[in-house]
Amino acid sequence: MQDWLEVCGWSLLVFSSGRAGPARRRFPLVQCRARPERAERSLGGSAASPEGRVAAAECRGKMSGCEARDAKKLVRSLSGLRMVPEHRSARSPFGLDEPPWVPDKECPRCMQCDTKFDFITRKHHCRRCGKCFCDKCCSKKVPLPRMCFVDPVRQCAECALISQKETEFYDKQLKVLMNGATFFVTLGTSDKSELMVCRLSNNQRYLVLDGDSHYEIEIVQISTVQILTEGFTPGGGNTRAIGMILQYKVPGSEELTQMKFTASEDFSSNKKLSASWLAAMHKATKLLYESRDQ
Ligand SMILES: [Zn+2]
Ligand SMILES: [Zn+2]
Repeated sequence: MQDWLEVCGWSLLVFSSGRAGPARRRFPLVQCRARPERAERSLGGSAASPEGRVAAAECRGKMSGCEARDAKKLVRSLSGLRMVPEHRSARSPFGLDEPPWVPDKECPRCMQCDTKFDFITRKHHCRRCGKCFCDKCCSKKVPLPRMCFVDPVRQCAECALISQKETEFYDKQLKVLMNGATFFVTLGTSDKSELMVCRLSNNQRYLVLDGDSHYEIEIVQISTVQILTEGFTPGGGNTRAIGMILQYKVPGSEELTQMKFTASEDFSSNKKLSASWLAAMHKATKLLYESRDQ
């Protein structure tokens, strides 16, 4: 007996035994099929300039490789069921590793309230920090997409708060980044800028820039992100993001390349969209640095 289930946008072919019946599906899953990512829309089509065509041709090769590596699999760990890329190189640049659990024998008491564990007061491990707590101090189940958990998982109060804040990034800001915004883009020390739509690729691993030219910057190659603001006053007050300077490594070269993004001033709606895209990029950078430093 087999069924198709939808989990996190992935189609899973689940086999259950005749004895267990359709109501009791058994894991592990026999087959997991990933939907191929939407074709990168600009390749070939908008690359009108010769440089653009070359870039697009290079990207075509690269993107097909990326898609091949994007297959995912379900794994079950101590902490729960996770949907992870088959190859580590295809993981999200915002991902976090599962922490090792503090061994049971090293924690006779709750690491938050110091209650002694016994037959009645059981210990629970926080899935985000791996530390050991009583039920009262580790009762919340919160989504943890950065560790690829399929379901919300048990976390201590401190970690639950951080994960809840990240939920906003995954629910709203990641979508803003993927929808894209328009900027004038200047490469290196050039005095020419080009109007381009900038967006995060669906697999979260590339910043894709489309204009007359086409660029793809691998997120893990970005070394610094500086958000440019206006309206800054020494005492604080309202500031608005108006641009960004990226420094990143081009594979095969040790030197950093710089790219400057300036919000297009054409329409006020564009300006607003660019400002929210930059704010989302600011948040993404924090997550990126955190993932890198783990
Ligand atoms: Zn406790
Ligand atoms: Zn924790």
